[in-house]
Amino acid sequence: METEKLEHFRRMLREKKRFLISKLQDARSKEEPLSEDEMMDSMDLASTVAERSLYARFRGRERSLIAEIDAALKKIAAGEFGICEECDEPIGVGRLKAQPMATLCVKCKEEMETIRTYGRDGAVEWRVL
Ligand SMILES: [Zn+2]
Repeated sequence: METEKLEHFRRMLREKKRFLISKLQDARSKEEPLSEDEMMDSMDLASTVAERSLYARFRGRERSLIAEIDAALKKIAAGEFGICEECDEPIGVGRLKAQPMATLCVKCKEEMETIRTYGRDGAVEWRVL
């Protein structure tokens, strides 16, 4: 991929990472320990606990996104960005623009999804619900 395009993706990924980190710090600042008043009021306590578990989930998702961004940035540095991990073909700039952290080309991604849905030999997996 041309240096100019790589530079574009690098900027895009860094910006996204900065944004996620600032969101994380924002969420963290809302995490002061429970005050005695909050402990006394069970209604408030319930909503505070619910709010906290929301933040915890949110952080987990943002964290894994940041890890994906880091992996993509590492690939840019190593000159491997935009190459499919399965077939070594270029992923395609259109797909990367929509999903700069993509590690598979469209074809391999679709194949993966087919395997997940139908099993490797194409047989439908029947699940008992
Ligand atoms: Zn591929």
